[in-house]
Amino acid sequence: MSKRGRNVYRDRRWKAARREALKRDDYQCQAVELDNGEKCGRRGILEVDHIVPISKGGNPFNLDNLQTLCRRCHFQKTALENSTDHNLTRARQEWDNHMNTTFGATP
Ligand SMILES: [Zn+2]
Repeated sequence: MSKRGRNVYRDRRWKAARREALKRDDYQCQAVELDNGEKCGRRGILEVDHIVPISKGGNPFNLDNLQTLCRRCHFQKTALENSTDHNLTRARQEWDNHMNTTFGATP
């Protein structure tokens, strides 16, 4: 499954789906703050997240399974999802690779 997960981000369909999701979400983070229920709404560095992770059978290219998140919220979600697994290290690596691919360099 990790092989499939890595390949998604090199797929042409992902680039198209990602663009569509960003447009649909008006280039704003869709995450909801846990404490006050307000939408994060950040702009700037945005990521498109799989609501149901690919590793859990989520569709990688279906807009219904995509949401726009700012980098911070995306990282928090990824960390949460992986905190119960023992592959946090690999998730971090995939995240870094993904950010490098998307933005060219890690700040
Ligand atoms: Zn956010």
